[in-house]
Amino acid sequence: MSTPLIAQEVKGIIPAGSKGPAAIPVVIAVPRELAPGEQRVATIPEVVGKLTKSGHEVRIEHDAGTSAYYPDDLFTAAGAKIASSRTGLLNGARVVLCVQPPTVADVDQFAEGTIVIGFMNATNNLGAVARMRDRKITAFALELIPRITRAQSMDALSSQATAGGYVAAILGASHCPKFLPMLTTAAGTIRPATVLILGAGVAGLMAIATAKRLGAIVEAYDVRRAAGEQVRSLGARFLELEINAEGQGGYARELTAGEKEKEQQMVSAAVARADIVITTANIPGRKAPLLITKETVAMMRPGAVIVDLAAESGGNCELTQAGRTVREHGVTILGPQNLPARVPFHSSQMYAKNLQSFLALLFDKDGALIREFTDEILAASLLVHAGEILHKPTRDLLNGGTP
Ligand code: NAD
Repeated sequence: MSTPLIAQEVKGIIPAGSKGPAAIPVVIAVPRELAPGEQRVATIPEVVGKLTKSGHEVRIEHDAGTSAYYPDDLFTAAGAKIASSRTGLLNGARVVLCVQPPTVADVDQFAEGTIVIGFMNATNNLGAVARMRDRKITAFALELIPRITRAQSMDALSSQATAGGYVAAILGASHCPKFLPMLTTAAGTIRPATVLILGAGVAGLMAIATAKRLGAIVEAYDVRRAAGEQVRSLGARFLELEINAEGQGGYARELTAGEKEKEQQMVSAAVARADIVITTANIPGRKAPLLITKETVAMMRPGAVIVDLAAESGGNCELTQAGRTVREHGVTILGPQNLPARVPFHSSQMYAKNLQSFLALLFDKDGALIREFTDEILAASLLVHAGEILHKPTRDLLNGGTP
């Protein structure tokens, strides 16, 4: 890596040597999310209040928070300025906060040296990444933040997975033809439903907790044996299957062909007795593992429901169709996309707090933007800077290789 990690000064916005907002406030801009189905917003009035109190100018594109139920007047009351156009929003903006990755068209509107912070989904968004490199934009990708204790308050992957796990359990319950809790009524006794969670990471644990609160009997499985303790602490039963695939950084590793076959056999018995199956199994940077074959679906009870949270990365069920709900053998299979956007109020709140913590790393004690991104968290999440792509897998893909 030849270029040092030095933030660029933007002519006319932050003069070199500026002592920060006391001299010239840093303009932080929040665009309205334009991706279809996206309801979230990258900041909320409470966070705006804190940023403006620190001397920054926060600009919100009009109606940016409306679909998350944060109307413009709440932002104004918190000290933000509402920009009626994208051009007005970005004019002089030094930092841009977003939820979805910027498109090529978005990047073309940013001034050279702008710092953009949000999810970047870089390996699937190569065109925009290349444009950010060419236009000398600085981009921080929240999904690249290391999962270390100090970064927990900035971990947007976790906060949004929490929202996704919650919605998955609610969706499963709402498509299930049964009650979830046990009921003793004058019309007879109702047995509780059984919910099976495959993959007990952040989303899976939240799905377990939610299904438990709804009164179901909950079982869960993960290839990382360490997940067992967390599952049991939520009052669910952990399925012990003789595989332990704890990989690097606490993530799961890919199973061998033999292990995969064993897993599918063992999982299918639990799937067949469940009323709702929520699958969240993922391996970073790879296609989601196949846990439920079409033969297993055929063994399920009529009326059973599968909610496949891995739909966007290929699906944990062979019959899942991303973005669609299908019915096969009397089983309803949901392949939802962007579940956090279905609870936009709270997922925006959590995301905004993650960004607030992350932003704190970018300013010095005088409120001026720091010039060196040497902090471990900043260095790891720095995707593009000063005309270079710093994330090797993305750079390799852009150079025509494999990541
Ligand atoms: P993820 O979204 O990458 O995957 C979800 C789950 O799928 C994981 O628990 C994984 O073990 C599981 N999985 C993968 N292949 C599987 C298979 N074949 N069968 C069954 N399950 C399979 O994971 P995540 O939710 O992002 O969490 C990953 C890890 O990071 C976990 O250990 C979690 O506790 C840890 N984490 C740590 C922090 C921190 O701040 N220290 C924060 C968040 C998560």
